[in-house]
Amino acid sequence: MSDEYKFVECCTHGKQQATYVCQHIVQTLKDGKPRGFWSAEPEPGDERPDSWCTACEEKFNSLGGEWNDESEAFAGVTLLCGACYDRAKELNRKIS
Ligand SMILES: [Zn+2]
Ligand SMILES: [Zn+2]
Repeated sequence: MSDEYKFVECCTHGKQQATYVCQHIVQTLKDGKPRGFWSAEPEPGDERPDSWCTACEEKFNSLGGEWNDESEAFAGVTLLCGACYDRAKELNRKIS
């Protein structure tokens, strides 16, 4: 893990890489319901780019494929620890 990362203190996992995901992806950690998993183009060396669910992807596309106030409000981007991110990614990818 490089020093370029920002860190977050997770009450479950301790000090971890800070990651950003939409609120629906966080919700999946609570209810286990897969919502799809879409990611931004990762920076070199960053295996945990900003991510969002299928509903956010559709919202994003319906607004012309650009993030703006409306799509960002819909996504409600939330800070998540790297270990929670990995778990959320695994859960959300179970969508068929
Ligand atoms: Zn979402
Ligand atoms: Zn965590």
